[in-house]
Amino acid sequence: MSDCIFCKIAAGTIPAARVYEDEQLIAFKDIAPQRPVHILVIPKKHITSLATVSADDAPLLGQMLAKAHEIALAQGSPAGFRVIINTGEIGQQEVQHLHMHILGGPQPVGPMVQKH
Ligand code: 5GP
Ligand code: ZN
Repeated sequence: MSDCIFCKIAAGTIPAARVYEDEQLIAFKDIAPQRPVHILVIPKKHITSLATVSADDAPLLGQMLAKAHEIALAQGSPAGFRVIINTGEIGQQEVQHLHMHILGGPQPVGPMVQKH
């Protein structure tokens, strides 16, 4: 999608601090980190949200989850992490391109009193 900021990041037309890339996914640092480790994992192809995935997207979604530990470890969250996928209006999704937050760091991320 031409006006989607995460599509532009995936295409490389907007810079981002990339930490992982494969055929289907890229992962990059959140521009406004909520925790010492705050990574966003996105599909390269435009999918609006978890509310618009199809059955064909199951392997892609599996790949996003399957890479979370490796990315968290490489970014300095060795003892675990939290994964969040905000979806739609009730989920307070701000960017309309599916993305998975990986939140972590050297300390526990604390109770879920904040949005992230
Ligand atoms: P949401 O609220 O939609 O789940 O999360 C969107 C996330 O994208 C926010 O944490 C926000 O800081 C991040 N974000 C928005 N625009 C950019 C950008 O241009 N670059 C990067 N790296 N992160 C962004
Ligand atoms: Zn997009």
